[in-house]
Amino acid sequence: MSVSLPFFRYHPDPLTTGSIRASAEACACCNRSTGWIYTATFYTAQEVNENFCPWCISDGSAAERFAGEFTDAYGLDDVSEETLHELTRRTPGFHAWQDPRWLAHCQDAAAFLGEVGYTELMAHPEALDQLCLDLRMDGWHDVSQLEHFLTHLGQGASAMLFRCVVCDTHIAYVDAS
Ligand SMILES: [Zn+2]
Ligand SMILES: [Zn+2]
Repeated sequence: MSVSLPFFRYHPDPLTTGSIRASAEACACCNRSTGWIYTATFYTAQEVNENFCPWCISDGSAAERFAGEFTDAYGLDDVSEETLHELTRRTPGFHAWQDPRWLAHCQDAAAFLGEVGYTELMAHPEALDQLCLDLRMDGWHDVSQLEHFLTHLGQGASAMLFRCVVCDTHIAYVDAS
C-alpha cells in the first residue's frame, strides 16, 4: 500500500498509532473525502466534529478555522514557540486513557511512535530505564512491585513511546486506564 499522507515530523506514522484511519468520510474542514480521517483529540470551544483529513491538519487550516489545538502544551516549556505551534496546530494528536501528554527531549518536542507494551519497550532499554526512574520518583519504591508493573505493561496500563528528533533517544511515559 503506498499512501502519501503529509509528513508529520512529530507524529511520523499516524496510521500505525491509529490517529488517522482509512475512511470514506468527508473532512469537516475542506469537505473532501480523501480516504483518510483523523480520529484523536481536538480541543476547541466550538461545536465541531473533529473528523479532519490529514491535509487540513498538516497545513493548519483545521486548527485555524475551528480555533483549536490537537495537543495540550502541558509539559512543553522547553521547546520553542515555533515547535509548539507546529505540534499543537499542525500535528495529529493521539488517544490515551488519561489526558495525552507530549514528551520533549533536547529542547524539542519528540516524535510520537505509539502505545506499546513491555515487549516493544524491551527493544528500547533507554526508554525502559527512564520509565523506571520516573516511576521511582513518583513513589514506586518496591522494586519487585515496579518490575511486576513494568513487565505487565500492555495489560491495563501501557506506555506511550516517543523518539527524540534530535538525538534519537527513545523516551516513554505510562498511561493507565
Ligand atoms: Zn480536509
Ligand atoms: Zn534528545
